[in-house]
Amino acid sequence: MSIFTSYFKKGSDPFTQLEQHGVQDDEISAMKTYVHQAQDRELYLANPRFLAKKLDMAENRAIDVLTLAAYENLWQLVWETYCSSCSMFLESADTLADIRLDYTCPYCQNEDVIHLDEEVVLRVTLKKEVRVLDPTRRDDPNFRAEIDNQYGPLKALQIINRKIFREILGERNLPANNSLGVQHLAVFFSDLKASTAMYQRLGDVQAYEIVRKHFNIVFSTVEKYAGSAVKTIGDGVMSTFLDNASALKSAMECIRSLQTLNDEYNLMGDDRLRLKIGLHAGPCIVVTMDHRLDYFGSTVNVASRLSSLAEGDDILFSRDVLAQDEAFQVAQKLGYITGQREYIKGFPEPMRLLCLDFDEE
Ligand SMILES: [Zn+2]
Repeated sequence: MSIFTSYFKKGSDPFTQLEQHGVQDDEISAMKTYVHQAQDRELYLANPRFLAKKLDMAENRAIDVLTLAAYENLWQLVWETYCSSCSMFLESADTLADIRLDYTCPYCQNEDVIHLDEEVVLRVTLKKEVRVLDPTRRDDPNFRAEIDNQYGPLKALQIINRKIFREILGERNLPANNSLGVQHLAVFFSDLKASTAMYQRLGDVQAYEIVRKHFNIVFSTVEKYAGSAVKTIGDGVMSTFLDNASALKSAMECIRSLQTLNDEYNLMGDDRLRLKIGLHAGPCIVVTMDHRLDYFGSTVNVASRLSSLAEGDDILFSRDVLAQDEAFQVAQKLGYITGQREYIKGFPEPMRLLCLDFDEE
């Protein structure tokens, strides 16, 4: 007898629903095979990192496929919170909106606000409509602890920073008027500096083609470094990364790729397109805006402001970006320059700005 029960039309395969979202045949068959063969405890409150390994997928790809599978009611997402001080389990929620904003730990009395990249962990449970898990066998906390030790728990921010999740499950998880905190996010704003001379010389159609190619460069480079292009603002893009080094590397590669694009189109001198990039890292909040998740707060505002202060072919960033060792090493290798103190709107203290300059002239 098939393990797929009558919830789905008899004889039909619930996993084929993933095809319409662009999930590949081999990915679907990997998930089907795994769901068929796994022990009950491997499909109950499972660590998505462990599943990625089992499905032989890159971590972020597995997260995207699980997001689509949750959207199609094959898996249930479960948000668990753990004390940031003693690591004890605090509570579990079906949606982000059900997560408490702050807590007092009953074990160690630690008081803190909840952060999506600290206390909140994502787990997934296979829906009973796909396969019924034996209630006496599925719940195995020791097994889960072992897996978490080996793979590390998946912090909620990692799925929230995926475009697919924000677009298709964001609002369902976090209705408008709700917000949740993030301890650390690297935010970069890129703005395209395209000359009016270039538009006049090439005409709107070809100029637009180049501008469109610039967007593709930024989107694909951000994705390559596991970041997320959150939104476009005019000719600008706001992107977010979990770590500062990836944001820096991605920003540098965007600038270099755009310089190559200039060469392909023979754009010289004042005609060349330049990226003005601003980068800042720190806490922010996640909210639902226009039916999708977005990031807000002063970290976002400062990054945006830095982009407008940049001159072109450069990355203007704050000292906070270098607080992470790997980012410091990347910036040092690229030869960053310490610049003037500048007053940033909304900040009482002037901020010392750092710069990576890729100007070829
Ligand atoms: Zn505690």
